[in-house]
Amino acid sequence: MNINEERLIKVIEEIGNIGAQPENGITRLAYSEEYSQAVALLSRRMREAGLEVRTDGIGNLYGLRRGKSDNLPVILIGSHLDTVKNGGLYDGNLGVCAALELIRVMNENDVWTKHPIEIVAFTAEEGDTYGGTFGSRVITGLQDVDAAWLLERLKDNGITRQDMIDSKRDMSEICAFLELHIEQGGALEMKRRRIGIVSGIAGISRCHITVRGETNHAGTTPMALRKDALLATAKLINQIDIISRQIGDPFVSTVGVLSLKPGFINVIPGEVEMTLEMRDLEQSRIEDALGRIRQTASKIENAEIEIELAIEKPPVKTDERIIELMEYICRESAISYQVMPSGAGHDAKALAQFVPTGMLFIPSIGGKSHCKEEISTSNDIVLGTEVLLKTVLALDKVLVSDGGYIPVYL
Ligand SMILES: [Zn+2]
Repeated sequence: MNINEERLIKVIEEIGNIGAQPENGITRLAYSEEYSQAVALLSRRMREAGLEVRTDGIGNLYGLRRGKSDNLPVILIGSHLDTVKNGGLYDGNLGVCAALELIRVMNENDVWTKHPIEIVAFTAEEGDTYGGTFGSRVITGLQDVDAAWLLERLKDNGITRQDMIDSKRDMSEICAFLELHIEQGGALEMKRRRIGIVSGIAGISRCHITVRGETNHAGTTPMALRKDALLATAKLINQIDIISRQIGDPFVSTVGVLSLKPGFINVIPGEVEMTLEMRDLEQSRIEDALGRIRQTASKIENAEIEIELAIEKPPVKTDERIIELMEYICRESAISYQVMPSGAGHDAKALAQFVPTGMLFIPSIGGKSHCKEEISTSNDIVLGTEVLLKTVLALDKVLVSDGGYIPVYL
């Protein structure tokens, strides 16, 4: 069974370029006019491939291909259809179009799986407007449907609390979830591997830090008498960097926002507010880092440092048996691969908490993403889709109806 490169690239481009602006990349925000156009076109392509198409109450798009045993749960495959502002062609779109291509390949080879196969194009994965990975969090029930800020924002799009409740899926209807995505980093390219098998999706903890010193005259206050909040902040940031490197890969930390009070050229900063974001595959390592950062902060002189943990989203592991299966497939086909964590969040993170989930990456050239320079080669796109197809077919054989596995491959 061969992936049709021309057909796959064509659908990636025709759907992915909806919302493209010359020089400004692609903007296809969830619930926008461009987004609706993409859903309409993809629905048409899915129907042409013989899928039963529907959208749920919040705008997730599904296409179902029946299996030989319709009482079996579905193998769900997909990604998201929205982009960030001024985003690229492949983020999300790739995984949805690859899922469609493997259906088309199975159709032309008259291959029928035991399990029904369902394609999903999730809505509102990107951005903070709806909290990120909105579509997948709603179907898994992770989304708090009573959040007032969210209801307010959804109202503008005609979506209600009840729509969210109605869109929740019974997780026993799904026996596995698979997502193909661009890496959005440079690790695969650097290591010259063509496929990334995602071992887990990093947890994220975000802190608000306030550093208090003393505002004073920049000309009349001698160095020895200063309580410069920015200087203390600089020392803290330096320590955060040292601690982060000690914790080691894949731990990463970022200070992304810094604001000074009062922020005048001739006044010693009296207060600094900063953010700290930490990501890792193990919650205990994030907690360890935060503990060490708190300790070092308490020792910094001439300032009072308050660290408030604002957001804590724990890491999620993908399914070990699916990882093994994907490794087996790559080895059999002599494809270079790397088992690796994902530093970015994905819809797979929501699904992985409820159903066996597998995720594949293909290299992003230059590690670029969320910008118009985002690109992957056609060869890698085809290869990623091929591994995805083989994973689906293998899973269809090894999954048994209770969601367990038969311990033999292929
Ligand atoms: Zn994405």
